[in-house]
Amino acid sequence: MPAIRQLPDLLINQIAAGEVVERPASVVKELLENALDAGARAIEIQLEQGGVRRIRIGDDGCGMDKADLALALDRHATSKIASLDDLERVGTMGFRGEALAAISAVARTTITSRATGSAHAWRIDGADRSVAPAALDAGTVVEVADLYFNTPARRKFLKTEPTELAHCDEMFRRAALARPDVAFQFAHNARVSHRLPPTDPARRIGALMGDDFIEHARQVEADAGVLRLSGFACVPAYSRANRDAQYFFVNGRFVRDKLLAHAARQAYADVLHGQRHPAYVLFLELDPSGVDVNVHPAKIEVRFREARAVHQFVFHAISRALAESGAALAAERDP
Ligand code: ADP
Ligand code: MG
Repeated sequence: MPAIRQLPDLLINQIAAGEVVERPASVVKELLENALDAGARAIEIQLEQGGVRRIRIGDDGCGMDKADLALALDRHATSKIASLDDLERVGTMGFRGEALAAISAVARTTITSRATGSAHAWRIDGADRSVAPAALDAGTVVEVADLYFNTPARRKFLKTEPTELAHCDEMFRRAALARPDVAFQFAHNARVSHRLPPTDPARRIGALMGDDFIEHARQVEADAGVLRLSGFACVPAYSRANRDAQYFFVNGRFVRDKLLAHAARQAYADVLHGQRHPAYVLFLELDPSGVDVNVHPAKIEVRFREARAVHQFVFHAISRALAESGAALAAERDP
C-alpha cells in the first residue's frame, strides 16, 4: 500500500464540491442563500448558457469588508455560527462555510463586495486569492464562470443548456417563493424572464405558480404555538400528473421531506385519485431546535424531533382547509 499523505487544499475542496456543487443550479442555490443571509432586499440573477458559462448574482445585503472577503473562500470559514449551541438553533440558510470554497475550487470565481458603511469595495479573485480595490455601490456580486473547467470528469455530466437552465430556474423559484418580501430579477443570456417586486406571499405565489394555481388554492393557516403552517393548498380539481407543484418550506428553507409529503398526501386521500398529485405551497415554522437541518450538505433534507406531532399537525391543517373549501363549494351549489 502507498504511504498515507495529507491531500492539498484544492483537492480537498474539489472532493467536497462533488457533494455541494452537483450542477449550475447548486451554485445558484448557494449564492441565493448567501445573499438572503446577508439581509438582501433585492437580488439579481444573471446566467449564461444555463449557468455553465456564467452565473452572476448581485445583492444589496451587508457586504464584506476586506478582511472577511479574504476569508470567504476558505473552507470551514463562516460568519454564521461559532459553536455547537449556535448550530442547534441556527436561523441562517448557511452555516457550514464550505459553499464558496467548493465553488471556487471548480469554477473561475470572483467576489466583489462593499461592507455597509465602508468607503471602498474590494474584489477577491478565487484563482490566486488576491484582493484588490474595486468599484461597487453596495452589497455583493459573485461571479462564477466556466463551471468544472478544471474537472473535466464532472463537466461530462452536465446536461443540455435548457435542462441546466430549468434546474437553475427552479432554485430561483424556491428562493422567490420563500421570500416574497425580497425583490428578485432573473435573466438568462441577457433576457430577463422574471422581475418580481417585494410583495405579500399570495401575490408572489400567484406570480410564480400562475393565476390558475391561485384561483384553485385554499388558504392554509394553522397555529399550534410551537408549530405554525401557512400557505396555499389547491382543491383536488387542480391536481397534477406529477409532483412539480409541491413546495414545502421549513423555517424558510425549501425541503424535500417524506414525512411532510405523506401528511399532505393523506389530507387529500379521500378526495384525490391515486395517480394524481396535489398542488401546494406551504410554510412550516417551528423552533429551530425542533428540526435538524444538518443532515445533508445541500440541507434539502431535515429531521424533526417530534416527527409524529409534525405529521399530525400538517395533516389536520391541510384537511381543515380542504374541508372548509368543500363546505364553501357545497354552499355555493346549494344555497
Ligand atoms: P456559509 O454560508 O455556510 O457561511 P459560504 O461558503 O457560503 O458559507 O460563505 C462563507 C461566508 O462568506 C459567509 O459566512 C458570509 O460571511 C460570507 N458571504 C458569502 N456570501 C455573501 C454575501 N452575498 N454577502 C455577504 N457576505 C457573504
Ligand atoms: Mg452559504
